[in-house]
Amino acid sequence: MSDEVARAPWSFFPYAWHQATWQRLTTLAQESRLPHALLVGGPAGIGKHRLAQAFSAWLLCQVPTAAGACGHCKSCSLLNAGSHPDLLELGLETNDKGKLKQAIGVDQVRAVVDFAVKSSQLGGYRIVMVEPAHLMNVSSSNALLKTLEEPGRQTLILLLSSQALTLSATVRSRCQKLLLGTPPAEEALAWLAPQLRDAATARLLLDLADGAPLAALTLRDSLWFPERERLLKDLAGLSEGRLAALAVAQRWHALGAEAVLPALVSLCEDIARQAAGAVVVKHRDLAPIIGAVARRSSPAAVLAFCQGLAEKQRLLAGNVAGSSLLDAAFSEWKRLPAAAAQ
Ligand SMILES: [Zn+2]
Repeated sequence: MSDEVARAPWSFFPYAWHQATWQRLTTLAQESRLPHALLVGGPAGIGKHRLAQAFSAWLLCQVPTAAGACGHCKSCSLLNAGSHPDLLELGLETNDKGKLKQAIGVDQVRAVVDFAVKSSQLGGYRIVMVEPAHLMNVSSSNALLKTLEEPGRQTLILLLSSQALTLSATVRSRCQKLLLGTPPAEEALAWLAPQLRDAATARLLLDLADGAPLAALTLRDSLWFPERERLLKDLAGLSEGRLAALAVAQRWHALGAEAVLPALVSLCEDIARQAAGAVVVKHRDLAPIIGAVARRSSPAAVLAFCQGLAEKQRLLAGNVAGSSLLDAAFSEWKRLPAAAAQ
């Protein structure tokens, strides 16, 4: 089929660090106390999606076990095939240039409204999963409200978001909240370390990802992770007046603003922290260079620079050319006022 989309396999079990939450959810369901709408919040990269998939599969499964769905009944097979009639997944669609749209549109939400009033095809629950729920715009949120207020019988709406507090207050007020945090570092490392070369890299990546294990793994595969040292040395060269901003920017055009801007944010947050007196940095393997740059930098100026980077990331998502954003970023860095003389 020409329009077939490569699908990740459906997850039937949550991550180990979500076992307690899993117990709570399955107990609620067994006691018929499951809410009709659940807002699953928490940082990106902690496995919310997998938890929601596993719980949905378990609710829909015809022979569920305590640990999860069976994985091979009719319902589980339909989930694996991506064609379960009682499950509707809503996410960001792509535009005609293949770029992700910036919001979940009202037309998509109208499909939820239609779906939720129909009766179940397999005789069990009907489940709607919306992710990232905070990217519903005002019209989409409003369109969802009625379904949140009066969902059909045995309907569960799962809203997943890494920025749950930015959802409209009316949507939030109609959901039971399940706010998840990052797992304890030891549990995250127990999962992460075997997938990486060594424990030190696992710890470094977990720190850089603020404790979110899946985000740490994504970071390992990112374009910028192996380029951190070279980028930091360029920042140092600019601070010390050894390098010209546009020449440096040129070097990074090929890697692209999508990779370079988050790298700059991550490095500059460390530089700002150290310039403000913090002892510990996240890029611990680069601590000596970060220290040298931080000594020349004013913490307030670096923080302001970080805010400028965040704005550039917004502009990039809105189709401003990445190369011009990089030119601007390196020029601004070069012009940053130095630290006040001691
Ligand atoms: Zn099953």
